[in-house]
Amino acid sequence: MRKVTDDFNFYQGNCPRELVHNYGSPLYVYNENIFRKRCREMIKLSSYPKFAVNYAIKANTNLTLLRIAREEGCRADISSRGEVVAALAAGFKPEEMLFVVNNVSEDELRYAVSVGMTVSVDSLSQLDTLGRVNPGGRIALRFNPGIGGGHHEKVITGGDGTKFGIMPEYIPQVKELLAKHDLKLIGINHHIGSQNWGDIYLDGVNALLKIAKQFDELEFVDFGGGFATPYHKQNGEKPLDLQMIGKTLDNFISKFTAEYGREITFMIEPGRYISAECGVLLGTVHATKTCGEARYVGTDLGFSVLKRPTLYDSHHDIEIYREKGSIPFGEKQIINIVGNQCESGDYIAKERELSPLIVGDVVGVLDAGAYGYAMCCTYNHRARPAEVLIQENSSVKVIRKRDTFEDMLQNMLDC
Ligand SMILES: *Cc1c(COP(=O)(O)O)cnc(C)c1O
Repeated sequence: MRKVTDDFNFYQGNCPRELVHNYGSPLYVYNENIFRKRCREMIKLSSYPKFAVNYAIKANTNLTLLRIAREEGCRADISSRGEVVAALAAGFKPEEMLFVVNNVSEDELRYAVSVGMTVSVDSLSQLDTLGRVNPGGRIALRFNPGIGGGHHEKVITGGDGTKFGIMPEYIPQVKELLAKHDLKLIGINHHIGSQNWGDIYLDGVNALLKIAKQFDELEFVDFGGGFATPYHKQNGEKPLDLQMIGKTLDNFISKFTAEYGREITFMIEPGRYISAECGVLLGTVHATKTCGEARYVGTDLGFSVLKRPTLYDSHHDIEIYREKGSIPFGEKQIINIVGNQCESGDYIAKERELSPLIVGDVVGVLDAGAYGYAMCCTYNHRARPAEVLIQENSSVKVIRKRDTFEDMLQNMLDC
């Protein structure tokens, strides 16, 4: 069977089994060409001259990838002080960053202001704090346009009952606080959820632009992220129709610009769209068993390595890389691929139709470049994996070393 990774020329002649042999298992593998292509697609999305892409770096914060994103012309969407430090280390300038905060400390706000980036706060109380920290400053606000959508309830970040954004009915109080601290509102943004494009997204854009018209001094409006990755490619899922999306956004933008009377900057904040498809997580099968009717394939891919299936019931396409000359692939069965973590929710692929795996197979978990390594943890005191990059010229470079157990003990040994 032809593989998705063949269609994308993902390995560029490198053998996934050899990568695991050389760099250890589990292993995050990224493809530079694919990453660059996704950056370019987002940057070209709109034909509007003042269109900007803030890569939501929380999706994948590897410094090598951040440097490449910047080279391609992306700016950075930042969600924490640690990400500010990472973005600066990767070469982003403060004016290329938008810090979209949620419930951060006064210290974190003071730090961001001292670095010189624009901060977007998303509650009246944080607006008051930011005003105290940065009186007379230029600031941004995240609104909740009252609309939300996403692939799982945990990633819906707009509409009723979410902790994110300021609801439009609070605009009078917003204006009072802006006046109280002599703040200039230069930008507004929203992010209503992940993995959605279509009517919900457009309703959100529309609602945000209505909010924008109530402020006179805006320099930018930011439509958020959430651009969908096709995670079901083996079932023929198609990528987003970027041409259609671009045209639709252009229409919204030109209509708004005509009414607003000024050509402000428009931004988007894609995370997964840029980094998901450039990453494959490789792991190794160590055991197989049957329990009642259920078949389990036990791997080193616990949720400490890839959390999305456990956290969101997310689907990742699976490829199997078997040793040459080993037994041939058998007829498909319903199979669960699980990890090595001490919890029964620890699975990578649930009830999937796959040909039976055998001990020693290498498993490829596709589209793992976003919210993969970024959500890794050390539960069960397991070391986080290494990350390697297949560069444009097909050579492989380590871009993050595997944790060592000494690394993991260091902060405690020092005490
Ligand atoms: C997470 C996040 C994004 C990116 O979401 P994706 O679904 O990865 O595109 C963009 N903006 C904000 C504010 C976010 O929190």
